Order: sequence, then C-alpha cells, then structure tokens
Amino acid sequence: MTPTPFLAGLRMRCPQCGQGELFQSYLKLADHCRACGADFRAADAGDGPAVFVILVVGAVAAPLLFILQIAGAPTWVAIGATLAVATALCLALLPVFKATLFALQWKHKAREATHEDIE
Ligand SMILES: [Zn+2]
Repeated sequence: MTPTPFLAGLRMRCPQCGQGELFQSYLKLADHCRACGADFRAADAGDGPAVFVILVVGAVAAPLLFILQIAGAPTWVAIGATLAVATALCLALLPVFKATLFALQWKHKAREATHEDIE
C-alpha cells in the first residue's frame, strides 16, 4: 500500500511502499529502497527542506529570545538557550522535511525541467 507523502515523510520511509528506510545516513538518501527496490538516485529536494526548516525554527526561536529578554534573563542565557533550541530543532526537523519533500516529489513525479519539456 502506498503511504501518503506526509506519513512517509514523518516516518522517513520509502514513499513507494512505506516500509524501507529512506536515509542511509543522517541526510543522505539511500540509492534504493531495501524493501521494494524503488530507485531514489534521481531524488533531489534541493534547498526546499532548509527553507521550510528556517521558517519553522525562526517562528519558534525569535519569540523565544524575545520572551527570555522580557522575562529578565541575562543576555548570555537568552542567546545561549535560543541557539541551543534553534540548533536542536534544525537537526531534528531537517531529515523529516527532506523526507516529506522527497515523498511529495515522488508522488507528483516532479523532476528537473529539461529543454525537451518546452519543445
Ligand atoms: Zn520501498
């Protein structure tokens, strides 16, 4: 059964079968699915995952810094806590967003445009 792109992305599994692991290391996609053999080599989410992670983490980190400053925390504590939260969130969210964008590309058969496409 083909999973939804968002479910496959959240679980970081193959968008074709939903079983095989998508990554062979932290952010490096496997060449193919170990469960169904789907070929992942043409996959390229580009900068998309980083853009969405920046938007999400920025929406959390900026108010956090503001709140800590208003609450009277020393500046070094506020900056240190905000940097720690931002770093942890970025590291946690990047694989999930990359997997989700890849699954969406997979579902919609997105690929890089070529000259043949416009002729
Ligand atoms: Zn698979």
